[in-house]
Amino acid sequence: MYYVVDIDNCVSNDHHRNEYARLRKWDEYHDLCHLDNAENHGFITKLHKGGSIIWLTGRTANYRTKTEEWLIHRGLWQDGDELLMRRVGDHAPAAEMKIRQLKKHLSMNGVAHEQVLCCYDDSQKIVDAYILAGFKAERMFINDYNGQVTDGTQQKVDDSTDSVISHCSDPDYTPSGITSAVVTPIPEPRPDIYSARETIAEAAQVFESRVAAYGEKNYERTSRVLKALWPEGIPPHISSSPEFVLFFPIINKLFRFVISGLTHTDSRTDIAVYAAMLETEIKEHEHD
Ligand SMILES: [Mg+2]
Repeated sequence: MYYVVDIDNCVSNDHHRNEYARLRKWDEYHDLCHLDNAENHGFITKLHKGGSIIWLTGRTANYRTKTEEWLIHRGLWQDGDELLMRRVGDHAPAAEMKIRQLKKHLSMNGVAHEQVLCCYDDSQKIVDAYILAGFKAERMFINDYNGQVTDGTQQKVDDSTDSVISHCSDPDYTPSGITSAVVTPIPEPRPDIYSARETIAEAAQVFESRVAAYGEKNYERTSRVLKALWPEGIPPHISSSPEFVLFFPIINKLFRFVISGLTHTDSRTDIAVYAAMLETEIKEHEHD
């Protein structure tokens, strides 16, 4: 079973950068996404007990690395989850883009409509679009931007007058299924056809973001590090060991940390996690 969950303003508190969204400066808005606080952990944990999450975000695919690392390091990601993002160059309205992406993902993976238990988004328009497309959907948000005034401060909305709002910061909140939302018709999504050019352009964006993070020809430098560590070559019993599999990514993360000027704290966390897993593996084998 699956749940579909939006990221920005559902689990990622984007209040500090929302002014950019209001000004429709999307690159500036997305670029700061890694600084968001994570919220609604309890709710996500409950969803994970019932199935996997298809994270469906309006962020473009060139922010995939940042988004994946953020979800993993904030403890929101679970094995089996998927991350669907807006394709670079896709300027369709968010509701149309999300329905199209979701339908394509379900059909490509042989997942039936009914296996999607509920879709959550902070935008009422998108919730309406999910319902119109035949999914159960609820509104879930951290900041209620419906009541936002132009200087970026929040104007509280009286929840008691708005029957469709479900504020999921409440740890005891339980998903309840379809809402009583007023459905606003939206145009039918366009067919799921992407050109090879779009796919290649998106891959190029991902490639550029990885090069920027890990360095040009990182694999050559990694190879030189391995040769320096094992001048006689890596013994086969080491290169095929679980310890080596856990050790290897530490080298890559070290490069990333250095390239960031020793500021990328997520790399430091990654290294600590791999080191802890390595220690566990070593201790387990001590008793072999
Ligand atoms: Mg959102």
